[in-house]
Amino acid sequence: MAHLTEYVPIVGQAVIDDLRRLGERLDGKAVQNVNSTAVGGGVAEILNRMVPLLQELGVRAGWDVIKGGEQFFGVTKKFHNALHGRAEVITRDDFDIFLDTGRKNNAALNIYGDVVFIHDPQPIMLVEKKQSNKWIWRCHVDVSHPDDGVWQFLMGFIRRYDGCVFSSPSFSRPLPIRQFLITPSIDPLSDKNRELPEETVERMIRQHGLVRDKPIITQISRFDRLKDPLGVLKVYQLVKKHIDCQLILAGGTAADDPEGLEVLAEVREQAGKDPDIHILLLPQDDLLINALQRASDVIMQKSLKEGFGLTVSEALWKGKPVVASAVGGIPLQITHKYSGLLCHSIEGAAFAVKQLLNSPAYAQQLGKNGREHVRNNFLLTRHVRDYLLLFLSMYYENDVVRL
Ligand code: UDP
Repeated sequence: MAHLTEYVPIVGQAVIDDLRRLGERLDGKAVQNVNSTAVGGGVAEILNRMVPLLQELGVRAGWDVIKGGEQFFGVTKKFHNALHGRAEVITRDDFDIFLDTGRKNNAALNIYGDVVFIHDPQPIMLVEKKQSNKWIWRCHVDVSHPDDGVWQFLMGFIRRYDGCVFSSPSFSRPLPIRQFLITPSIDPLSDKNRELPEETVERMIRQHGLVRDKPIITQISRFDRLKDPLGVLKVYQLVKKHIDCQLILAGGTAADDPEGLEVLAEVREQAGKDPDIHILLLPQDDLLINALQRASDVIMQKSLKEGFGLTVSEALWKGKPVVASAVGGIPLQITHKYSGLLCHSIEGAAFAVKQLLNSPAYAQQLGKNGREHVRNNFLLTRHVRDYLLLFLSMYYENDVVRL
């Protein structure tokens, strides 16, 4: 795993010096992260790299994962969808299942953090264990138009936190507690994002039966309806009428997402027997994701809702042209026609993909601009700095941090 000094060639010495200074200010405080899955999805992706770097900076950072059964994750997935504005039937029983698992986790989980950093709704109830320590709720989802019932239920817990973090200004809600805007990030030195020799890319994709004999359009995502894999299939089918190309839909499952296999089956059915559609159900394999992104000609992220969409920054960092929906945190990453193409419909996405496949120089320029945008805004070092400032701000009453 990369050490801080290895980031110097990418972001410069001054950035790393600042991190060390901020780390010292925290004076060995314990920061306890809690979420609901160790693998799968963007939150686990970030914590995997964030926690060791915080430790290297002298912060006693820890990461705990709550436990939950199938029923609990069924309910939290409904919450997730409802927070994203999708119609869901949520019953009294569902709320009871959530509360019951919450109580069990409250009894089982040891709280040791000076700062307790709770990620997403699943572990939100832990705040009932709040004492004199500082509690922050980190909301990774797009709550710009949440279902009111679920939001009000969660508000019963949120109001007890000291602060709350959102990924985009459009997610901010009227709250009685302090709010912070912090965008997520990718790690340029992780297996998922580091440079890969061309031979490695070639070997890895061949191992999965893929050949670069025609342009590749790819979407990497959990098989989740909000990632719109069926929409991606339709986009590909429209493009295919004009350009002979192939599609990769690659995704794994996450321990806290019970809908994956059902959605995968729908996607397989709609794909039919087209030999140019490659649907890959993957185990967690960061190098392979890296290789798939690098082997692609166009990356798509056709989400219907998106908290941030790490996959967009991952693709841009690799200099790839991206076609992505203008939803949630995606427009923070893509400025239309500058660092990628934003789309609002299946037809619009197909038009954009065709445009990129027909104009390689334009596609390359968008990818290049995207990479610089990610370097300036969405790398892990900026994220670590924001989190250190956030933790420090918990110890200052007047919103002023004196350094
Ligand atoms: N990812 C992965 N394997 C997969 C599918 C996704 O490693 O099969 C990764 C992807 O590269 C990204 C993260 O999981 O780093 C997904 O984060 P994102 O913010 O895009 O979406 P989320 O799943 O959190 O909604």
